[in-house]
Amino acid sequence: MKKILVCGAVRDRQMEQMREAFQVEDFRGVSLDNNPALETALGEADALINGGLPITSALLDRAPSLRVIATISVGYDAYPVDELSRRGILLCNTPDVLTETTADTGFSLIMATGRRVAELDSWLRRGEWKGSVGPAQFGKDVHGKTLGMIGLGRIGAAVARRGALGFGMSILYSNSSPKPALEEELGARRCEMAELLAEADYVCVTVPLVKETVHLIGAGEFALMKPDAVFINLARGKVVDETALVDALKKGRPGAAGLDVFEVEPLPGDSPLLGMDNVVLLPHVGSATHETRDAMAQRAVDNTCQALRGETPLSPVNLDSWQP
Ligand code: NAP
Repeated sequence: MKKILVCGAVRDRQMEQMREAFQVEDFRGVSLDNNPALETALGEADALINGGLPITSALLDRAPSLRVIATISVGYDAYPVDELSRRGILLCNTPDVLTETTADTGFSLIMATGRRVAELDSWLRRGEWKGSVGPAQFGKDVHGKTLGMIGLGRIGAAVARRGALGFGMSILYSNSSPKPALEEELGARRCEMAELLAEADYVCVTVPLVKETVHLIGAGEFALMKPDAVFINLARGKVVDETALVDALKKGRPGAAGLDVFEVEPLPGDSPLLGMDNVVLLPHVGSATHETRDAMAQRAVDNTCQALRGETPLSPVNLDSWQP
C-alpha cells in the first residue's frame, strides 16, 4: 500500500479519507526537527503533504521513493522545483481555493491602512480620545481613488475587482502579460510600473516570488510614489526590500504601509516596523480562515490521492517532468 506522510494542517476527516486507500503517517503538530520517526517515514514515503518542512537536497536524498509533494499553499517559492523535476517528483499546490480569502485580506489591509484602523484602535485604548477627533486622526479615502496592482493574476484580479466594483476605484496594473478580459470587466489600464507608482493612491503587490521579483520594489520604486500613497504587500516578503521600505516610510513616501508578509517570518522582535504608527502588520494570514484553510488542505489531499492513483491531479506545478 502506498504511503503518505502528512506534515501539514490536514483535518481528521481528510486523514480518514486518505486511509481508505493509502497508509498514512501522521506528523501533524509534532516537532519535525531531529525526529527519528520522521526520518524512517521519509525513507518509505511515496507522497508528502507539506505545511512547513523545508525541502532540501539532503531531505530528498533520504526519501528515495517520494513521487509527489503536495504543498498546502499556492506559492511554491520555498520549493526547489527544478530539482524536484530532475528527481521525477511532482509538486502540487492549492490555487483558486484561497483567491477570494486572500483578496479579502488584501482589501482589509487597504482599508485598515488608509483609514488607520489599528493605529486609532490603540489610540482609543490608550485613553487618548478626550474630545472631537481632528486632522491628526483623519485618514485617506479608499473609494474613488486609484489602485495600482503590481501583479494581476488570480489574487490581484480579485483585489482589483473589490476596488473597482465595490469602491469605484480606477485600476492601473503592471503585469508580465496583458489582461484584456480584466481591462474590459474593470476598466483596468496596463502601464509601466514607474507610471503606476507615480499615479496610484494605493499600490498593492501580488506577484509570485521568483528570481525576477526578488526586491522588485526597493528605494527607487518608493521614491516614485506619491507622498501620501499607501503601499500593500500581499505577495511574499522578499518581493520588497524591507530596509528600503522602512527608510521610505520614515521619509513619508509612501505615507503608510499594510504588510501581510515579511523578509524574515515570524517578524523579528527588533524589526523597526514594529515601532511605526503608519504601518499595519499582519502575521501572514492571507488565506487564514477556517473555511479556506480547510479547502486548501482538501485540495492537497485530493492532489495527492489523484497523483498516487496515476491520475493527473487538479493543480500540478511541474507536470511535464512527471511520470505517473
Ligand atoms: P497567479 O495567478 O500566478 O498571479 C501572479 C501574477 O503575477 C500573474 O498574473 C503573473 O503574470 C504576474 N507576474 C509574474 N511575474 C511578474 C513580474 N515579474 N512582473 C509583473 N507581473 C508578474 O498567482 P496568485 O494565485 O494570484 O498568487 C500570487 C502570489 O500571492 C503567490 O505566488 C503567493 O506568493 C502570494 N500569496 C500570498 C498569500 C498570503 O498569505 N499573503 C496567500 C496566497 C498567495 P502572468 O499572468 O503573465 O503569468
